[in-house]
Amino acid sequence: MVKRETKDCETCGNPIPAQAFTCHFCDASQSVENFPKTRERVIRSNLEAGLPTVAQALERLERDLREARACEAKVVRVIHGYGSSGRGGKIRDAVRRELGRKLARGEVKDVTPGENYSSTTNAGRDHLSRFKELKTTERSDTHNPGLTIVEM
Ligand SMILES: [Zn+2]
Repeated sequence: MVKRETKDCETCGNPIPAQAFTCHFCDASQSVENFPKTRERVIRSNLEAGLPTVAQALERLERDLREARACEAKVVRVIHGYGSSGRGGKIRDAVRRELGRKLARGEVKDVTPGENYSSTTNAGRDHLSRFKELKTTERSDTHNPGLTIVEM
């Protein structure tokens, strides 16, 4: 998601990945202020790659949103796939339920299902005007049921 770099553990000083929340040498947690900030305001979370189980997809969502918050991305395009039956549909349902809970708890600002997203809907127009980067994927994102757009 962000460039591979290392940082020194705040506790033991060993080199650890710049995106690490904990040190794999001493288990000490690292402060979020030292997390590398992304230059991209809009990032992608691909929950489809490698055909994960529903549990794995939810773990990946959790990790990607935590990373998005730490690197101060503003929008996450969550790619979860779709399907009325089978794995794709189950992942989508589970991911949307979880995002709904996060929205209710105030952990994310906005959740827009891909099928409601286009330059002619209020949500789509609002996102496209505030985040010009979304224009590069506007064609594939429009009315795409395999996608959910999350504003952090
Ligand atoms: Zn350490």
